Amino acid sequence: MGLGQRTERANGLIVAIDGPSGAGKSTITRRLAERFSYVYIDTGAMYRTLALAVSRAGVSGDDDNRVIEICRGAKLSYSGANGLPRITLDNEDVADLIRTPEISLLTSKIASKKAVRELLLHKQREMGKEGGVILEGRDIGTVVFPDADVKFFLSASAEERGRRRYLELKAKGVPVDLENTVAEVLARDRQDESRDHAPLKQAEDAMAIDSTSLSIDEVVAVMAGVIEKRLAQALPSSCGGND
Ligand code: C5P
Repeated sequence: MGLGQRTERANGLIVAIDGPSGAGKSTITRRLAERFSYVYIDTGAMYRTLALAVSRAGVSGDDDNRVIEICRGAKLSYSGANGLPRITLDNEDVADLIRTPEISLLTSKIASKKAVRELLLHKQREMGKEGGVILEGRDIGTVVFPDADVKFFLSASAEERGRRRYLELKAKGVPVDLENTVAEVLARDRQDESRDHAPLKQAEDAMAIDSTSLSIDEVVAVMAGVIEKRLAQALPSSCGGND
């Protein structure tokens, strides 16, 4: 995990959390961002917002030229201070609209296109380069910030991830069925793992955590311990967390 390196970033560490859908990344990243007063960067929400723009334009995810044109023209803004993300498309808050199963699958499709990834890669690097950030996604530790100070790869069994996603959608009132949700999660993972550009994979220097039989609190405790250790080693006290 590069624990021996010092970091010179102005605002603190860059923490990368990658892994497949339903492993618990969002909740855990948000909790860690709050705890360390870091900016929470939900890169999946950015891809999802571009997918929403494509869907609203009535364009097929297979139409490369039109997808790229729409993504280039989309006015996306993201902020995530203290673990509170806010994402807008053309100034409209789209946080709830981007979480449907249809948008999930379309997102995975458009995220496989190199030109789409390049648009967001640039934005994500700009947002994170001064540190004091926790980014969650699929390619943070491998492509966006290969020099991140701390890297985690969070996974869980496919059944457990499908079950969690099902419960999450159900709680939001989205009509779902368990079998379909597990199938959707698996289809998305296959698409994310097999694409040519920035596929989902564990960085060699990432710490792997399997959350199948761990609670959110347990995972947060393990990760927070690793981050604290890294902070104690590398940063002047003014760049540390708030607790
Ligand atoms: O994390 P989340 O489930 O919201 O991500 C939605 C989709 O966005 C993923 O299935 C993946 O296709 C894409 N994604 C990506 N690279 C990232 C984050 C998300 O390709 N860094």
